[in-house]
Amino acid sequence: MAFESLSDKFQNIFNNLKKKGKLSEADVKAAMREVKMALLEADVNFKVVKDFVNAVKERAIGDEVMESLTPGQHVIKIVNEEMVALMGSDESELTFTTGGGPTIYMMVGLQGAGKTTTSAKLAGLLKKKGKKPLLVACDIYRPAAIKQLQVVGEQLSIPVFSMGNQNKPIDIAKAALEHGSKNHHDLIILDTAGRLHIDETMMDELIELKEVIKPKETLLVVDAMTGQDAVHVAELFNEKIGVDGVILTKLDGDTRGGAALSVKAVTQKPIKFAGMGEKLSDLEVFYPERMASRILG
Ligand code: GDP
Repeated sequence: MAFESLSDKFQNIFNNLKKKGKLSEADVKAAMREVKMALLEADVNFKVVKDFVNAVKERAIGDEVMESLTPGQHVIKIVNEEMVALMGSDESELTFTTGGGPTIYMMVGLQGAGKTTTSAKLAGLLKKKGKKPLLVACDIYRPAAIKQLQVVGEQLSIPVFSMGNQNKPIDIAKAALEHGSKNHHDLIILDTAGRLHIDETMMDELIELKEVIKPKETLLVVDAMTGQDAVHVAELFNEKIGVDGVILTKLDGDTRGGAALSVKAVTQKPIKFAGMGEKLSDLEVFYPERMASRILG
């Protein structure tokens, strides 16, 4: 199960809180020090941890909580609510182009994050909801990316538009849009080219692609297992090209939870989906409440 390491620590802290009858200010402060340690060890961003702990303390240290019959439960409830707020957002739903023209999503991210797999997963999910998606292979740098997209597209019976790796991504994308409208696709998902590391050429290419294609949403795919690196990547992509939402992949293998807990607070962009496995059906809408209960037990 994801987040087990962080989850175990919270269980301990909460059990100790529940055991106590009345809580003193010192008890709450001590518990919050433990929460802080647990979150830092889970690789949550330092500033995010500080703000989170302060927010909980501010609400937990007060007459209402201390004098309640079950102060421990009360503190736990506050931790839960603040954790939901940390990951939550009102604008986490995908938006679609209405009236004229297909909805275009541009998938961006570093190599290995899961961009190609997630493009297909998302197309599959939306096909089930009645859309007619077209997947577009613009990742011309990773040798197997085009073939990989074709394979997963076939598994989902979703057409894949590709022009090999000798054309520029921007020309592929333009041709794909034309092909898409001729064939009445109402959803076009571009699997753009990543790199192993962030570099200027990649960013410039994506900026140009975004300007010309004008996607309805630019969705950033990051690997949750890379913790703060994922958050850093998200910050940079958002700064340079602007993203509308984040998709966190490999949450199924993430024992720590640092990226899930930091990325929204750091970038102010919602986490829209979570990748929960390698199968094409393993993509879930990201629900902050569900994540918080997975972490807090
Ligand atoms: P890209 O280079 O960003 O296009 O990455 P790929 O789509 O090729 O994915 C890289 C690897 O991560 C592949 O082996 C995928 O099966 C795997 N992967 C992608 N998403 C997930 C996920 O949510 N969970 C797990 N366990 N593996 C994933």
